[in-house]
Amino acid sequence: MISINRYVKNRYISFCLGCIIVVGVLQGLFLKLAEAVPSFSPLLFPTLTIFLLVFHLFIACFMAMKYWCDRKRLYLVAIAFAFTGSALLMAGTLSCFPAWLDLYQFSIINYNDAMIFFMFRHLLMAVLIFTSALLYAMRDRPFSRMTHVAIVVGMFLFTAGMVTLAWFYSSHSALFTLDLVDNETRQFMVLWSQVINISLIILWIVVLTTLMIITRVRNLFWISGNFLCICYITTLIMLLLGGHAEDIDWYRSRLFETVATLLIIFVLLYDVFNLYRDSHLKYQQSYQNSIRDPLTRLYNRSYFYDALNQAIDNANASRPVSVIVSDLDRFKRINDCYGHLQGDKVLQFVAHLLMDSVRPQDIAARIGGEEFVLMLANTPSDAARQVAERIRLNLSSFDKASSEGQLPEPITISMGVFTTTSPNITAEECVESADKAMYEAKETGRNRVVVFQ
Ligand code: GH3
Ligand code: MG
Ligand code: MG
Repeated sequence: MISINRYVKNRYISFCLGCIIVVGVLQGLFLKLAEAVPSFSPLLFPTLTIFLLVFHLFIACFMAMKYWCDRKRLYLVAIAFAFTGSALLMAGTLSCFPAWLDLYQFSIINYNDAMIFFMFRHLLMAVLIFTSALLYAMRDRPFSRMTHVAIVVGMFLFTAGMVTLAWFYSSHSALFTLDLVDNETRQFMVLWSQVINISLIILWIVVLTTLMIITRVRNLFWISGNFLCICYITTLIMLLLGGHAEDIDWYRSRLFETVATLLIIFVLLYDVFNLYRDSHLKYQQSYQNSIRDPLTRLYNRSYFYDALNQAIDNANASRPVSVIVSDLDRFKRINDCYGHLQGDKVLQFVAHLLMDSVRPQDIAARIGGEEFVLMLANTPSDAARQVAERIRLNLSSFDKASSEGQLPEPITISMGVFTTTSPNITAEECVESADKAMYEAKETGRNRVVVFQ
């Protein structure tokens, strides 16, 4: 317990140190940029806002799709609503630049409206990210269907309510008014600088603390989420210290938010990459399991017949295909004397020996209890007989000591070889002929190789 706590504490410390370094670097870069470009083009801000809006919509779609794949992860819906609401409110921000595409009027900016959308965006995101943290803490306790639907509907209504309220408070509607910035002097109003700004900072600190405690900054996804909170707190503190709706503060705020958003997008893409890699690996594993025998890992019967049929299709006098059927001699006795487990070890030993005795392009398969088969492509009868003979001699040379206990006593094998140079034969007929030769080997004393005549 103590060591786990220490581990978590260390993670918190490294996360905070990392954030201080990244925020410091970003601030340094921004100051350098502000030095190089004393006044930014008024077109830049709406353009950056559009970029951020698209990024936020992208994250929202991603979260919704992840939730669709696993409905138990309700906390993802809260994040999806947070980013959807943020994107909609950024569309509101764009409306504060009524003529930004007009060459002569692009500098008309309604700072107060921009601040209203900014405030509602922070409020909406802070509440929904906080909700997401709470839902994440309860992820192992499944909600009833009714509660689940009620939570989703509640979050939807909250998002829609915030967006609508922001619209009504802005100059687009005469219903409510809210003065946060003087559009003439660009001075912050007391309501913003002494109440709302400070309240938003406190709200984000509460959200960040809750998020850090609940998620324990345990993976890249939550690291990026916590980092977003830190960026919001930093920009709000800078606005508080600035005291004036300077363009530079808005650009800094966009820079920090864009970097944090890009980090989230990067983490999501990394997640997709991991999922792709895992599913590809699982596909490979299940494919291998479907074509291999579980005990010996040799190919199974159906894979062998498919491969043999393909090879036979291309068989001709210069490309003969050989098949070797093998059966262990008196194997029942091994099982009876030493037990089935020892019998299995013998089968595994023989399987390894067969695999090591053929070329990579040859196919070694287990087609029965202790019956093995080899397909040697481009191999004439005589060469196939030599391969079989080498395997037979090799196997019979092992005893208990040299096989490191895999063989309880020396064991022998009987083998039948059949070769075809014609494509007008089926795989079953080839195996049957090699099988006949193998039975002849059994009948003529076992531990020998017979070539089908
Ligand atoms: P022969 O020389 O005539 O081939 O004699 P044999 O005793 O080997 O006879 P047969 O080929 O009929 O025996 C097959 C034995 O293989 C019967 C069965 O107990 C054993 N066997 C089949 N599959 C497995 C398996 O997966 N594991 C083990 N341990 N034994 C198996
Ligand atoms: Mg046998
Ligand atoms: Mg047998």
